Amino acid sequence: MKRVHFIVFKRSQVINLLKIIFICFFILGLSLQFFINKSLFVSEKAYTVDTSVKENSTGKLAIVIDDFGSDRNGVKEMMSIKRHLTFAVMPFLSYSQIDAKEAFEKGFEVIVHLPMEPVNGKISWLGPKPIVSTLSDNDVYMITSEAFSDVPYAVGANIHMGSKISADERIISDVLDIIKEKGVYFLDSKTSAKSVVRQIATEKGVTFYERDIFLDGQTTKEHVKEQLRKAGEIALKNGKSIAIGHVGIEGGKITAQAIQEMLPEFDKKNIQLVFVSELEN
Ligand SMILES: [Zn+2]
Repeated sequence: MKRVHFIVFKRSQVINLLKIIFICFFILGLSLQFFINKSLFVSEKAYTVDTSVKENSTGKLAIVIDDFGSDRNGVKEMMSIKRHLTFAVMPFLSYSQIDAKEAFEKGFEVIVHLPMEPVNGKISWLGPKPIVSTLSDNDVYMITSEAFSDVPYAVGANIHMGSKISADERIISDVLDIIKEKGVYFLDSKTSAKSVVRQIATEKGVTFYERDIFLDGQTTKEHVKEQLRKAGEIALKNGKSIAIGHVGIEGGKITAQAIQEMLPEFDKKNIQLVFVSELEN
């Protein structure tokens, strides 16, 4: 007869075995806890990333400087700012071609600053070949084309003065035809609340932009900096913003200094200076 061996545990061995089982379950529990916490941590981290994207929003700010081509006040200072700026050069003046060429060579964006008749103001402020309401369609075409020839490297145009013309459907339509033909953009400086640029540019499928804020006109640096700050806030809120300043008596060196001094603040707030053409229109 085969003997059956029974394994007989002592009481102390049973207790030890129970202890080991207990420890195993304890370790298993801890491990589960760890993985659960880890996954919670991951999802919390993902949530944090989402929020920080919102907090770290960036804004694109295009600063356009008008009135190059004549007055030297601030030209040198503007040309020394090492950021993306767009320079609007008036045609038919003594420094038109010189300023356009230098700006292009230094890496700035160049556009034509088209002189257009205002409701109020002197026609003499418009230079030798302004676009006035009495011109024929053909003359508007000729002058605008010549203006582009006189401002080499121009990739767009905006308005000098022009509160009367920007509300004139016939002339704006003529100008925008040439803009479309040249494949460049038009920036409405919005010197008139009655501007028809948006409506006609949309109808014709022309690339166009609109100014948000003027920077100078008053000649204190603090005022220009305050305007730049507002332009930056618009850029952060809407994603983009267009500000217009000037060389010459309306701003010049003061505007250039204000821009230079605001650069660290723009960098800190994630406001990126871009050319107008780098903005979505
Ligand atoms: Zn101007």
